[in-house]
Amino acid sequence: MESKGIIFILSAPSGTGKTTVCQLLKQKLPNLKLSISHTTREPREGETKGKDYHFISQKKFEKKIQNGEFLEWAKVFNNYYGTASESISTHLNKGEDVLIELDVQGAQSLRKINYKAVFIFIMPPSLKELEVRLNKRGTENANKIQYRLEESKKEIQQSILYDYILTNIDVEKTADNLEIIIAGEQFRKERYQPSSPDIKALIVGRENN
Ligand code: 5GP
Repeated sequence: MESKGIIFILSAPSGTGKTTVCQLLKQKLPNLKLSISHTTREPREGETKGKDYHFISQKKFEKKIQNGEFLEWAKVFNNYYGTASESISTHLNKGEDVLIELDVQGAQSLRKINYKAVFIFIMPPSLKELEVRLNKRGTENANKIQYRLEESKKEIQQSILYDYILTNIDVEKTADNLEIIIAGEQFRKERYQPSSPDIKALIVGRENN
């Protein structure tokens, strides 16, 4: 019954609103740690180095792959993205919960190794709405938007891999729903910590009875 943090994996097709949802969630749950990935893509306007991503060169990224520094990594939209193992284990060992944003390939590779985490997928209300949101965001040109939409279809087909699926109609509501999922996972009996020796004495050792 040791208290270790919980890992939440969050995926969503590009443009679904995942980043905004995560920012709202962070305000609600300041103790939740958001994992900061490494990427070879260029920073977008308004993004901060070391806060949104660790932006590194392709050469440095490949070196980290060779050194086995990543828990998982994937090539998404022609750029590398990866989660460093060390950043996750540091939080977990302190009993802190961590949220990792991953594309579907990353989630697939973690499922393959039976990685212990709660997998959550955020769905757009429709493909049409996703296209509207990508256009509104204005960070990609028309070709790139079409490419991202095609990739989104493949990702949606893989949503079956996940434990929870939320439809992001309204960002506030989606952040509330994510908070509910996180609370539910925190109250699973495996994570129960007796608050007194008398209760502990009644429970410990009886888990399998
Ligand atoms: P963006 O360029 O829009 O920030 O991210 C593109 C995609 O890469 C998103 O689906 C995002 O979740 C994913 N992504 C971000 N960090 C990681 C990571 O560390 N590993 C993997 N596999 N995907 C990531």
